[in-house]
Amino acid sequence: MVSTHAAAIIVRMPIESAGLPAPVAPALEADDRGPPPSVAIIGAGPAGLTAAYLLTRAGAAVTVLEADPRLVGGISRTVEYKGFRFDIGGHRFFSKSKEVEDLWTELLGGDMLVRPRSSRILYGGKFYSYPLRAAEALKNLGLVEAARCVASYGWARAFPVRDPRSFEDWVSNQFGRRLFGIFFKTYTEKVWGMSCKEISADWAAQRIKGLSLASAIWNAVLPQRQPRDRAKQIKTLIGSFRYPRKGPGMMWEAAARRTVEQGGEIRMGCRVTGLARTPTGWEVRHVDADGRRQTVEADHVISSAPLRELVLGLEPAASPEARAAATGLAYRDFLTVALVVKPTLSFDDNWIYIHEPGVKVGRIQNFRSWSPELVPDPALACYGLEYFCFEGDGLWNSTDQELIALASRELVQLGLARADDVVDGHVVRQPKAYPVYDDAYARHVATIRQELDERYPGLHLVGRNGMHKYNNQDHAMMTAMLTARNILAGRPLYDVWNVNQDAEYHEDGDRGAEAKLDRERDGGHDGSEAAAGGLRQVPARVAGGA
Ligand SMILES: Cc1cc2nc3c(=O)[nH]c(=O)nc-3n(C[C@H](O)[C@H](O)[C@H](O)COP(=O)(O)OP(=O)(O)OC[C@H]3O[C@@H](n4cnc5c(N)ncnc54)[C@H](O)[C@@H]3O)c2cc1C
Repeated sequence: MVSTHAAAIIVRMPIESAGLPAPVAPALEADDRGPPPSVAIIGAGPAGLTAAYLLTRAGAAVTVLEADPRLVGGISRTVEYKGFRFDIGGHRFFSKSKEVEDLWTELLGGDMLVRPRSSRILYGGKFYSYPLRAAEALKNLGLVEAARCVASYGWARAFPVRDPRSFEDWVSNQFGRRLFGIFFKTYTEKVWGMSCKEISADWAAQRIKGLSLASAIWNAVLPQRQPRDRAKQIKTLIGSFRYPRKGPGMMWEAAARRTVEQGGEIRMGCRVTGLARTPTGWEVRHVDADGRRQTVEADHVISSAPLRELVLGLEPAASPEARAAATGLAYRDFLTVALVVKPTLSFDDNWIYIHEPGVKVGRIQNFRSWSPELVPDPALACYGLEYFCFEGDGLWNSTDQELIALASRELVQLGLARADDVVDGHVVRQPKAYPVYDDAYARHVATIRQELDERYPGLHLVGRNGMHKYNNQDHAMMTAMLTARNILAGRPLYDVWNVNQDAEYHEDGDRGAEAKLDRERDGGHDGSEAAAGGLRQVPARVAGGA
């Protein structure tokens, strides 16, 4: 998950295994009006495999088509290189949904570790805990810089930018330009690839509330009175999360295995190129691992493939409006340079946010802290240096050797390794890591939804890029769970677009606190508002901005 804020060391918990209870996710019954349906599923990521597992358990005939030749799990896969295991982005397994938590336990049980969460910010060669500790922040910033921050805050309060339209102006008004420069500007610009002057103030207002880095810093610099009402006090961050001992892909390998045991078929190396309506259902066209054109026929299709590609591959062709909407959907891409390193200057955090302006790396994962089994050699460390980019830009197009050299240089520059510590490196590219929410995305998604509802019955969208929704695993899974129920019931019991998330859900709240997935469909969704309603906020450009 990407956040403008850094996360924190809150609680150090012992590593322990979760028990393996009897299956707890509700068994799905096939609709009793006929034989179980046949379902083709595009993508063996968390959404596709959740649907496949639940549908095969209920007796449906399922074929999963996955473009990757070897690995299931999608963005949540585990990549292996010479025995080292990498997690693309670092996947915490945490959900407020009890059904999701229970399904994870059902699939992996004792292979799920409970890991302490720990991350810090690196800025100016110093580490900052989060929430900030006053003494540490003061010591790190130094009295002179802390005084400058206070003065800059005072200036911003006295002379605020009137009607702030950009992220930069909004944050500077709230906290002063100095704190904005230290704790917001660099990281935000690295993640989203645009200047803070171009990012809309709405996003800042939505994102920076409650427990924010800035309020923590401000409290640290100028301690304030605690509100008497405890409910008004900021909730603490979650201090631990569950994690499969061999990385997130282990969960999805288990789901794939169980799907096959239940009679499902998973075809690897099969890229879906188009979908055609037939008199009774769907024909799913794909190119198989040997480059041959193939088809699969099914009553229903569940797609977790990027919405843009799906709509452009429909037959009969979608309307020009829907095709234009699909073409307008944008993505942000991501790459990890994993470095195997002699840990002469090691750290314990799961990850570190890099706020230093002089480097391109945005975040550094420390894979051993996620699970010791990710790093096979106890004498070595393995770090994942994360670069946010656009497919086709300079970073993306660099050779692996160039990227490994860049990452090695930056690790040394940051003081996290010595020049001769880096032993080996491996690059993992992740296209379409983030569906982008620009000014037009909600309108585009609404146009596409309407078209699919009206003209393409039996085609179901799930997951992150499948719905162009900033879903984490749990919400991607929920959309699949509800879709499976809809298919088995033979009618749309649930509106999957109502699977909701608040931007801070990963930061607070109780694990498994929500017993029910979603309320039954009440006809309540409405076009673009509903499309936007369940969507995690990602920055939009300032209207009319560059
Ligand atoms: C940096 C980062 C950090 C994250 N951190 C967390 C976290 O801490 N916790 C968390 O819960 N979530 C996290 N997530 C989100 C998580 O990765 C996604 O929510 C999840 O993987 C989405 O599942 P999905 O099945 O919808 O899509 P994906 O994971 O994208 O899977 C889709 C699958 O479909 C396949 N596919 C696509 N097109 C085709 C086609 N045409 N034909 C055949 N197959 C196709 C792909 O190869 C892929 O395997 C993070 C994401 C990122 C980018």
